[in-house]
Amino acid sequence: MKYLGFDLGASSGKMMLGELDGQILRTKVVHRFPNRQILAAGGLYWDILNIYWNLKNGIEKAVYESGEKEISLGVDSFCNDFGLLDKEGRLVNQVYCYRDERTKRKEKEIYSKVSKKELYMETGSQSALFNTVIQMAAMVEEGEGYLLDRCRHALLIPDLLAYFLTGEMHTEYTLASVTQMLDWKTRSWHKGIMKRLGIREDIFPEVIPSGADAGVLDKEKNPEFANISLHVVSVCGHDTASAVAALPTVKEHVAYISSGTWSIVGTEVERPILAEETFRYNIAFEGGVDYRYRMIKNVMGLWVLQECERDYERQTRRECSFAYTAQEAKKAAMLKFLIDPDDVCFYMPGNMLEKAAKYCEKTGQGRPETFGEIARAVMESLAMKYRYVLEKMEKILGYRLEEIYILGGGGQNRILSQFTADACGRLVYTGPYEAGLAGNLIVQMRGLGEIATLKEGRQIIRDSFDITEFVPEKCELWEEKYSQFKRLLDM
Ligand code: ADP
Repeated sequence: MKYLGFDLGASSGKMMLGELDGQILRTKVVHRFPNRQILAAGGLYWDILNIYWNLKNGIEKAVYESGEKEISLGVDSFCNDFGLLDKEGRLVNQVYCYRDERTKRKEKEIYSKVSKKELYMETGSQSALFNTVIQMAAMVEEGEGYLLDRCRHALLIPDLLAYFLTGEMHTEYTLASVTQMLDWKTRSWHKGIMKRLGIREDIFPEVIPSGADAGVLDKEKNPEFANISLHVVSVCGHDTASAVAALPTVKEHVAYISSGTWSIVGTEVERPILAEETFRYNIAFEGGVDYRYRMIKNVMGLWVLQECERDYERQTRRECSFAYTAQEAKKAAMLKFLIDPDDVCFYMPGNMLEKAAKYCEKTGQGRPETFGEIARAVMESLAMKYRYVLEKMEKILGYRLEEIYILGGGGQNRILSQFTADACGRLVYTGPYEAGLAGNLIVQMRGLGEIATLKEGRQIIRDSFDITEFVPEKCELWEEKYSQFKRLLDM
C-alpha cells in the first residue's frame, strides 16, 4: 500500500508519498505549493479552493510517480479555521484566516459571556483569540451569526478537504480538541459553552478518533479520478499533533519542541493538569494521538530570527542564507546579549534588528552592533527560554524530562540545537524535519492495520530518518547566565 500525506502550513503546503519496506519507511515529497492569507474587503481569508486544487494535483502526481492506483490519504494542517456547508453540502462562506481581526474587535464582549478561565478549565485549550470558539462567537457578535445558523455543518480545514473528496462529514479529535469547544472530560462538544456564546450546539459533526476510517473517494463528485481508488484516513488533523505522533523515541518522560516559525515546547501526559498555575502560564493540554495529551506552551520560535534575516537582506541588499547566519553567529562572543523572545516588542514584523538592539540597550546590556551578535543573541535566548519553560513544566509534573526532541524544519538549525543542549543540560535529538508528514503517514498505517501500535510507528520513524544527537557542552557558563535571563523575564 502507498500512503500519501498532505500537510498545509500558513505559507506552504507539502505532500509526501510513503511506503513501508520491511521496518523502514521510504518517503518522497511529490508536491509543494505556496499558501498565503488574502486580505479582501477588510477580512483575512484562505484561498481554500486553490488549496483543494493543489491537493488534487498532488494526488495526480502521486499516482503518476508511484504507478499505484490504490492510495491511502491523510490530511493535516494548522488548526482552528473552518468552512461552512449548507444542507446540500455546498460551501457557503470564504474560509477566514485565524489572524482575521474580528476576534480582536469582539474580545471584550465574548469573554464577558464566558470567562477566559472557564474556557480554559473546561476545554484544556490555551487562551488565544484564534481559537475556533472565539472566531465563531465573534461572527455572532458582528451579525454574521445567521451564516452559522443557516449552515448544516462547519468543518475544520483538514476535515473540509477530506469532505470535498469523499462527501463524508466528521470532526477529527485532535482538531476538535483545540477549538476550545470540546469538553476535555467527555471528549464531546461542550454544549453549555456553545449555547452561552450563541453558537448552535450541533454545528460540528461527530468527533472521530485519530486513525479512524474517513471514507473513500466519491468518484461522481471527482470524475477526474475515475481510475483511482483512494481511501481517506482521519490522521491527527492538527499538524503539531501529527508531528508529535512522529516522535523518534519509545521512551516516556521526554520533552519535544516542534520547531518552526513558532516553537511549541511540550511533553505527553496521560491527563490534563488544569490549575491556577497552568492557567496563569497558559500551558495547554491538547488532544494527541491515542488520547495522549500534549502539555504544551507556545514560544515565539524562529520568527524573530527569520525577521532579523529579512531585515538584514533589506538593509544590505544581500541574500542572507542559513549558512551565512550560522557563520556570522559563530564569530560573535558567547552569551554577551540576551532577549526575551516572547516580549511583545518582537510580535509584529519589521525592523527586527533594531528592536533587538534596543531591547538589549533598554535592559542595560549595551548595544549589539553586528548582525552576527544579534543572530547569536536570538538563538541563545531561545535556548534559555526553552529551559525556562521546561523547568516550569517539570515543577508542575514533579519529574524531570530527560531528553529533548526537536521536530520540524527548525531542527536543521544546528547552532540552535547545540545551544538548546547546552542551556538545558540535556541530550537533544533533531529530526525528522518533516515531522508533520511523517506522523501523518504513521497514523495512516496504524489506521489501516499495517502497523499495530504507536510504539511500533515511532520505532519505524527512529530507524527511517536521520536523527542527530547533540551533547551538552560548556554548561557552567550557561548556568551562570541563566539567572540573568530569568531577571530579564521579570523586567
Ligand atoms: P513553519 O511551517 O512553521 O515555517 P518549518 O517546519 O517549515 O516551519 O520550519 C521552517 C523554519 O526552519 C525556517 O523558517 C528556518 O528558520 C528553519 N530552517 C529550515 N531549514 C533550515 C536550515 N537548513 N538551517 C537552519 N534553519 C533552517
